[in-house]
Amino acid sequence: MTVSGAAAVPRVEIVTVGDELLSGQSIDTNAAWLGRRLGELGFDVVRRATVGDRAEDIRAAVGGAAARADVVLVTGGLGPTPDDITKDVVAAHCGFPLVIDEALLEELRERFRKRGYTELPASNRRQAEVPAGARVLRNPRGTAPGLVLELDGSTVILLPGVPRELKGLMDPQVVTYLEQRFGSRLAPVRHRLIRTTGIAESALADRIARAIGADDIAPVALAFLPDLTGVDLRLTVRGVADRVEAEAHLDRVAHLLAPAVEPYRYTTDDEDVAAVVGRLLRAQSLTLAVAESCTGGLVTKRLTDHAGASDYVVGGVIAYANDVKVAELDVDSELLESEGAVSEEVARAMASGVARRFGADAGLSVTGIAGPGGGTPAKPVGTVWHAVALSGSVTAVREHFPGDREEIRTRAAQAALAHLWARLRRGSHANEPLRGAGD
Ligand code: ATP
Repeated sequence: MTVSGAAAVPRVEIVTVGDELLSGQSIDTNAAWLGRRLGELGFDVVRRATVGDRAEDIRAAVGGAAARADVVLVTGGLGPTPDDITKDVVAAHCGFPLVIDEALLEELRERFRKRGYTELPASNRRQAEVPAGARVLRNPRGTAPGLVLELDGSTVILLPGVPRELKGLMDPQVVTYLEQRFGSRLAPVRHRLIRTTGIAESALADRIARAIGADDIAPVALAFLPDLTGVDLRLTVRGVADRVEAEAHLDRVAHLLAPAVEPYRYTTDDEDVAAVVGRLLRAQSLTLAVAESCTGGLVTKRLTDHAGASDYVVGGVIAYANDVKVAELDVDSELLESEGAVSEEVARAMASGVARRFGADAGLSVTGIAGPGGGTPAKPVGTVWHAVALSGSVTAVREHFPGDREEIRTRAAQAALAHLWARLRRGSHANEPLRGAGD
């Protein structure tokens, strides 16, 4: 069943309040979290705004949003301190006097009694004042309640700024309220993630455009989300209320995309390539040792970020200095001299050396020039070699990554892990070519 245009999808605006958000001292994670959550519920999130702790700015932002949207979600400025004025400003704007909510006041007293206070601080007493006629939502994780008011035919919901308090109020109280209120007009959104690595966004888009037309995927929308570790494809189907029907649309489009993305797709879950590598190592009962130069331990960290990594990660060496490459990995010092530390031969020797030294089934190595100094015309900054020693064969890949030191290191760690992933999956996908991440 597809939601028809007759019952318009309710429009939501988000207003976040706080000087610290404008000055950049706090990152506005609330707006992002609310946007995602409300979209999942089936609301159309149309606008968001951030204002400081000034009455006229809060009034204008909330008043303007209420005049346009069905629902306005406001976070921040509900605390006990004098700069927390959201409730006072919005109540005055709606024309509602503040009155003491006796049940809330008693709850606050009890909360403070338990903490050893004999008296409720006057500033906290203010938190028991609610706009007359507002619906009060108990805050299970803090002292500021959530408040639901009506303004200009719009539902205005005030929530605390502390992210965990906001989330504790949204689920289930605000969500239940909104679903009851707008249920039949909601157009739920369902997503499917396809994570790729080793291909640039434009190249992936070209492959997909050659394989399928835009009309083939309707009603599914396709978004490209690139970052330093690869390109995520996000499939979205909106307004199909029936879950089975929505999933069938997503399955069909994922199937259409498969030939274009297959060589680069490492998962359709919300997991990184290190998790996939770990699963493959475990499934094939293989152990791994890692030798890292320019990534300084990043690859090993990403592998061991996952619980249970001790099943397959034996250990690693951060072989930054040439002496360490020789002493700990048995890299030939003449090779280092003749080819340089950033070279195919040294990457190969590091991968097989670390596997041998640690008695592991597989060895993974990275060596490169992360910059900003150290580049030459033949080996500019961003040159990276990574190698995998596995099942008696060593494969090596050269990359040239753009970006600053941090970006190059992040890309190098990802490419090395992706190289290992490609080798491990070849167990079941024989004859697949190996690619550099820049291909
Ligand atoms: P409480 O009543 O629990 O004190 P509050 O409504 O008064 O909450 P604020 O005083 O505005 O909330 O903010 C408290 C803290 O919550 C801030 O210091 C900030 O770290 C965090 N915070 C506030 N707004 C946001 C936001 N939009 N995104 C992420 N964090 C936020």
